[in-house]
Amino acid sequence: MSVLEIKKMGEPVLKQICTPVERVNKKIKTLLDDMAETMYKNEGVGIAAPQVGVPIRAIVIDVGNKRYDIINPVITWTEGKITDSEGCLSFPGVFGDVERAEKVRVEYLNRYGKKKFIEADGLLARCLQHEVDHLDGHLFIEIAQNIVTGKFNRNE
Ligand code: ZN
Repeated sequence: MSVLEIKKMGEPVLKQICTPVERVNKKIKTLLDDMAETMYKNEGVGIAAPQVGVPIRAIVIDVGNKRYDIINPVITWTEGKITDSEGCLSFPGVFGDVERAEKVRVEYLNRYGKKKFIEADGLLARCLQHEVDHLDGHLFIEIAQNIVTGKFNRNE
C-alpha cells in the first residue's frame, strides 16, 4: 500500500463528475487500499477517489469502527435534516457548518463487486453524503456556513 498525494482546493479533478467503476478488479482494490492508507495517514474519516486524482466513483470511509470500501454509491433514501461541523482532507484547516440529511441509505458495490447497502445516521451518514458529493464534483465549501480556519479537527 502507498500513501498518495491529496489533491487540494483548486485542482480541477475535484470539480469533475466521476465515472462509474465498470469492473471491480485488482487495480480498484489497490486504489481502495492506497486511499485508505492515505486517509489514515492524514487522520481523515473519509476519502473519495478524485481526492487522490482518480475521477472514478469510489470512496473509503472509517468513522472509527469499521472501514467501508464503497464503489458506485447511490443514496436511495434520506430522512431529516441536521447541521454539524465538517472538514475535508482537500481543505486542510478549513471547517464549516453543513446541513445534511440526518439518515441515509446508500447502495453500492463492495471491494469484491458484491451489492451491499448501508443505513446510517450520525457521523457515518454525514460522511457518506460528503464523499458522494465529491463524486459529483461538489465540495463542502460550496454549502458550508460559518466557515472557520484553524487547528486540525475531523476531516471527511
Ligand atoms: Zn472532502
